[in-house]
Amino acid sequence: MHPLLFLTALISGLFLFPASPALSDEIWDVAVVGDGPAGHSATIEAARLGLSVAHFTGGNHGGQISLTQTLNNWPGEPREITGSTLISRMLAVSKELKVHRFSD
Ligand SMILES: Cc1cc2nc3c(=O)[nH]c(=O)nc-3n(C[C@H](O)[C@H](O)[C@H](O)COP(=O)(O)OP(=O)(O)OC[C@H]3O[C@@H](n4cnc5c(N)ncnc54)[C@H](O)[C@@H]3O)c2cc1C
Repeated sequence: MHPLLFLTALISGLFLFPASPALSDEIWDVAVVGDGPAGHSATIEAARLGLSVAHFTGGNHGGQISLTQTLNNWPGEPREITGSTLISRMLAVSKELKVHRFSD
């Protein structure tokens, strides 16, 4: 595993594990659990490294941040945004990078 990917997973507290072929006909390089900012960060970093990624999102789409109406401490974002806007942007990047999402 690439050191940057390992570090991201460790910091995020995510569970990364080789995907079981039983879940799909395809075999994934990386599986990420959780649809919050940490999950999206891990999927995006892994996909950018050229790894195939399965993202298991569960039922709580967007994680806790999607409940936030006013987010004013996101680095590099000068204006207040909502949590759902932020998650939508992350999702758009993830889709561009062809991350495969598995939702409940
Ligand atoms: C009301 C509110 C306002 C906030 N405001 C701010 C703010 O202004 N600025 C700020 O920086 N932070 C804010 N936070 C905190 C911020 O939302 C969290 O720090 C952030 O969401 C943590 O991201 P995370 O991805 O680690 O976890 P989470 O957002 O908790 O996401 C975890 C995800 O994993 C999923 N999951 C868990 N177990 C499984 C499983 N077994 N299978 C599948 N999915 C699973 C959950 O359903 C969830 O979608 C706020 C939080 C709340 C609740």
